[in-house]
Amino acid sequence: MTDPFWVGIDVGGTKVLAGRVDAAGRVARVVRLPSGGPSAPVELLEQTLTEALARVCAGATPTGVGVAAAGLVDAVGEVVSFAPHLPWRDADVRTRLSARWGVPVALENDATCAVWAEVEHGALVGVSDALMVALGTGIGGGLVVGGHVVRGAGGMAGEFGHMQVVPDGRPCPCGLTGCWERYCSGSALAMAAGPRFGSGPAITDAARADDEGALAAFDEVGRWLGVGVANLVAAVDPSVVVIGGGVSAADDLLLVPAARALRTHLVAAADRRLPELVVAHHAENAGVVGAAVLARRLTQR
Ligand SMILES: [Zn+2]
Repeated sequence: MTDPFWVGIDVGGTKVLAGRVDAAGRVARVVRLPSGGPSAPVELLEQTLTEALARVCAGATPTGVGVAAAGLVDAVGEVVSFAPHLPWRDADVRTRLSARWGVPVALENDATCAVWAEVEHGALVGVSDALMVALGTGIGGGLVVGGHVVRGAGGMAGEFGHMQVVPDGRPCPCGLTGCWERYCSGSALAMAAGPRFGSGPAITDAARADDEGALAAFDEVGRWLGVGVANLVAAVDPSVVVIGGGVSAADDLLLVPAARALRTHLVAAADRRLPELVVAHHAENAGVVGAAVLARRLTQR
């Protein structure tokens, strides 16, 4: 008899990542498959998820499965209403996958899943008021207020990346201009550093070797991180701000200029307790762990 386990499946625009997660949040047997992108048929995507699940389970039966979707999930966790990088449109994903797999399925937005991973098994255990800012291609975000992970009236809370920080600023793929994620994200870092670095990790390596251009890029992106976080802190007064996503591996290269800008831009900074800025515990597996946490909560009710 094996111990109970849950499966988290993180469905992104380019890849599907699935993992077996135990009650302590430990991940085992991770499977990665290409997701096919927004133009692939829905059936092909769902076949890919089914294959990932089968490989992760290897004949054993999970107690439940959580799906973290890179898209907007409705307020009750049933429907993917819109996902720019996936073929699901107004799709009743939870019911359909649950019927197909014969197990309870939880469905949630991927950034919200990353918050759950930190709340249950990471930097936010026991923290009642917190913010999460995940820096990737854009910004994924989440809020914990009074001990509750906030979803908003329509499931769309935490879209911090599209707050305007520069009036009439850089154009954003969302159709607006001056969005925070155009100044503060993995893409913004790559743009600030210039074309001589092939990848994000290469910029980090160069900055660690005191390359002036790479250090200046981190200073710029870190400063924008602090500016946006100051606005969010003014709104919700958290005790911890978790920085996640691929760029967070740069740690102090990003957090030092961010903390400096936070002090400069936050109202009453000298007369209040400043939130702690910390790096997320879960990097690439955040969606997998968070989705499995939600499946566990669903099946342990
Ligand atoms: Zn935008």
